[in-house]
Amino acid sequence: MYKDIEKILSPDIIRYDEPLKAHCTFKIGGAADILVTPKNIGQLKETVSYARERGIRTVIIGNGSNVLFSDKGVRGMVIEIGPGLGGAEVHSADCEYAVIRAGAGALLSRISSLARDGSLTGLEFACGIPGSVGGAVLMNAGAYDGEISMYVTESSYLDTDTSEIHTKKGDEHAFSYRYSSYQNENVIILSADFKLKRGDKDGICEKMRLLTEKRKSKQPLEFPSAGSAFKRPADGYAAKLIEECGLKGYTAGGAQVSDKHCGFIINRGGASCDDVLHVIEYVQNTVFRLTGTVLEPEIRVIGER
Ligand SMILES: Cc1cc2nc3c(=O)[nH]c(=O)nc-3n(C[C@H](O)[C@H](O)[C@H](O)COP(=O)(O)OP(=O)(O)OC[C@H]3O[C@@H](n4cnc5c(N)ncnc54)[C@H](O)[C@@H]3O)c2cc1C
Repeated sequence: MYKDIEKILSPDIIRYDEPLKAHCTFKIGGAADILVTPKNIGQLKETVSYARERGIRTVIIGNGSNVLFSDKGVRGMVIEIGPGLGGAEVHSADCEYAVIRAGAGALLSRISSLARDGSLTGLEFACGIPGSVGGAVLMNAGAYDGEISMYVTESSYLDTDTSEIHTKKGDEHAFSYRYSSYQNENVIILSADFKLKRGDKDGICEKMRLLTEKRKSKQPLEFPSAGSAFKRPADGYAAKLIEECGLKGYTAGGAQVSDKHCGFIINRGGASCDDVLHVIEYVQNTVFRLTGTVLEPEIRVIGER
């Protein structure tokens, strides 16, 4: 099916039967028929056209920190938006603000450090979120009272149906809690502009240090996971509800409700996608039965079922 691909795309960006567990923080998942990691926009456009013209199904991933890949993997093509599409630079806007324009493949931690180095405040909250700019915009990632939506003024994307590049500004993102309009569109996010205020570098460094300490002490960072498994319900915190329902440490195969932070489902070693899905469902059912609260997964499940 992919016989002609190396005539069109550079062979060094293509991998066949690629284990997806190597491309996500959960370390779970079967193989993708084909995984392409474009190094520039030209290669990304060629990849998208190749798949569109042959009717090949595509899945987009960034740093794989909010996804759970199926044990059967992905039939079709996974397009990984990595550091090759992650250039970033600071544009001085005026004496009060500056703008960082970052490619979708840049890691949030890098953009947060770039802001700190330029004495720009706002993105301190993002220093410990292990996602890419594209994934963070799509998910409206947030932590510790900060959210991507507070700083993104504009983003660009590739329409996979037409291969045209467009921009979205301000309200067009329709950001809300862990949501952006990109979640309903067949597009690939290419870049985002972050408008940041000039601030005091020592204060920025101190805030990043404190938030990093907080994460280390509260989250099970020593185990593979995809972060918080559930969205925050309207009436409280998922982790608190899960703990109150006696689910701390609940285990199925290699997947477990972390006893350090009940909002995290961790891979204790050799967990399968089915193990994680079993834990998710068990937690949802138990919390609903005991409290009436519906927990909605934050993790996005990808692949064959
Ligand atoms: C230890 C840990 C801590 C975490 N802490 C937080 C936290 O504090 N706050 C928080 O919000 N999240 C947190 N997360 C979850 C995760 O890091 C964020 O959701 C992050 O924004 C996902 O980015 P990603 O690049 O890894 O996206 P992926 O997981 O690769 O993808 C997520 C979704 O975005 C889509 N996508 C990715 N890139 C693009 C693109 N360029 N164009 C179009 N679609 C795209 C994918 O198709 C998928 O649907 C944590 C995860 C871990 C493992």
